[in-house]
Amino acid sequence: MLGLMQRQELSISSLIEFAERHHGEGQIVSRRVEGDIHRYTYKECAQRSRQLANVLDTFNVKQGERVASIAWNGYRHMEMYFGVSGSGRVLHTINPRMAPEQIAWVMSHAQDQMVCFDMTFLPIVKAIHSKCPSVKHWVALCEADKVPSDSGIPNLLSYEALLVAQPTTYTWPELDENTASSMCYTSGTTGNPKAALYSHRSTVLHAYAAALPDVMCLSSRDSILPVVPMFHVNAWGIPYSAALTGAKLVFPGPGMDGKSIYDLIELERVTYAAGVPTIWQMLLGHMEPNKLRFSTLKRTVIGGSACPPAMIAAFNDQYGVEVLHAWGMTEMSPLGTLCTLKNKHLTMSEADKMKVRLKQGRAIYGVDMKIVDSAGQELPWDGKTYGDLLVKGPWVVREYFQGVGDKEPVRPLIDGWFPTGDVATIDADGYMQITDRSKDVVKSGGEWISSIDIENIAVAHPAVAMAACIGMAHPKWDERPIIAVVKKPGQEVTREELLAFYQDKAAKWQVPDDVVFLDAIPMGATGKMQKSKLREVLKDYKLPDLR
Ligand code: AMP
Repeated sequence: MLGLMQRQELSISSLIEFAERHHGEGQIVSRRVEGDIHRYTYKECAQRSRQLANVLDTFNVKQGERVASIAWNGYRHMEMYFGVSGSGRVLHTINPRMAPEQIAWVMSHAQDQMVCFDMTFLPIVKAIHSKCPSVKHWVALCEADKVPSDSGIPNLLSYEALLVAQPTTYTWPELDENTASSMCYTSGTTGNPKAALYSHRSTVLHAYAAALPDVMCLSSRDSILPVVPMFHVNAWGIPYSAALTGAKLVFPGPGMDGKSIYDLIELERVTYAAGVPTIWQMLLGHMEPNKLRFSTLKRTVIGGSACPPAMIAAFNDQYGVEVLHAWGMTEMSPLGTLCTLKNKHLTMSEADKMKVRLKQGRAIYGVDMKIVDSAGQELPWDGKTYGDLLVKGPWVVREYFQGVGDKEPVRPLIDGWFPTGDVATIDADGYMQITDRSKDVVKSGGEWISSIDIENIAVAHPAVAMAACIGMAHPKWDERPIIAVVKKPGQEVTREELLAFYQDKAAKWQVPDDVVFLDAIPMGATGKMQKSKLREVLKDYKLPDLR
């Protein structure tokens, strides 16, 4: 027997319609590429999203065809989130930090029909536009008078000129909720990037779940700053969850340095911010020497890579900001777990609370997870046994997007579970902790050493800005860990001092065999350390006992 409730397809357009009707005066503030601060409301955002949908109709972009963005976090990008997907097209957010050839490759693979880009990225577009035959329209996200006549891009259009010519009315199509809505390519450290293709259903369910009290706990009373880019996994779904709750949105645009972020937090009375550890490192690096305080910031979600304990402690103890450690991936829309404390933790000592906060957290309703051994056998949730982390749920990929030309579908699932490539433990309370990417684990004498643990200890040293642990081949032990370190400007630490710092913090056999000081650690397009590149940098390196 079927239930007798109304059947209504979940749709991205309903999110912005809801925000317009119930939070029409809610603010969206953006630092613009133009250099100023732009302010408008959800009502105006909804109107302009409809104007954009009309533009796409005028250009005859068909349902399901891809419209790409190369843009910072800002109100025009937000309009694309709703105007493109809401009208049945697929928004392809492109990470501008990828190499130009890779950008051209993903555009061709996705068969993008139209590309809208911030003027900052004009040099990228100039470099690749002739290599992207599928693209019929190049649109600059600016006023007509800011579009250079000598751009070299044939028929370069102005987004604002296109919008102003359109009515603000539009009837959103009624789409099957499984219709594709947006796509994001993984950074692809090996081989070509692969795309997760999200649907209206997966996006709306994820937006609901992300807003829950034990997840991001978003409310119309919040002022939210997503520093995590809209070009990487939909800014962790925050634009959708913000529309669902009516929260004020504050977009940092191209201003990602510590000072710009701090100023925006204070100016816009931000209560809640989200980003990767490297961004917060820059923010804290600006605040510490200038003796600055937050007047409104209460909580920050930190994820994308492991949040070092020193950062959790700095936010919590020095600035009174609660850190919510989160884990997810492009293939998971992206949220999988978030570390909010349970009642039983509240009476614990600060040191014990920190042990919990360091974990990547517990599963969000909608995400099922398990750890397995190399034979696929499920492992216990005892907080000690580690294994390959598998997930499933309505916002986890089933298959990668094929695009045109590829013959074999890429179906990653194992018995319905998605292998994340992460190695983790899960404790009896369901708190998951990533020990490593499976390819980054250091395997020494049959035991595994978590490179994240070794890095966390190094960055707790006051002179260390950044640290990356990698395994080096060893004839007796298989691999031994070394730690590559970037010092903070003006700070000193020697190899011996840093190795001594590991005493009492790690078992003897886990202490790195050596320290290598570098000017920089190679970073990938999504702000994560690129250990494959680091291995190339250190290809002639020899462990001390093998020299
Ligand atoms: P991406 O798809 O680019 O977002 O990368 C996803 C990967 O980033 C995950 O599979 C993890 O390896 C890593 N990651 C994300 N969040 C965390 C976290 N909080 N701690 C450790 N690793 C993380």
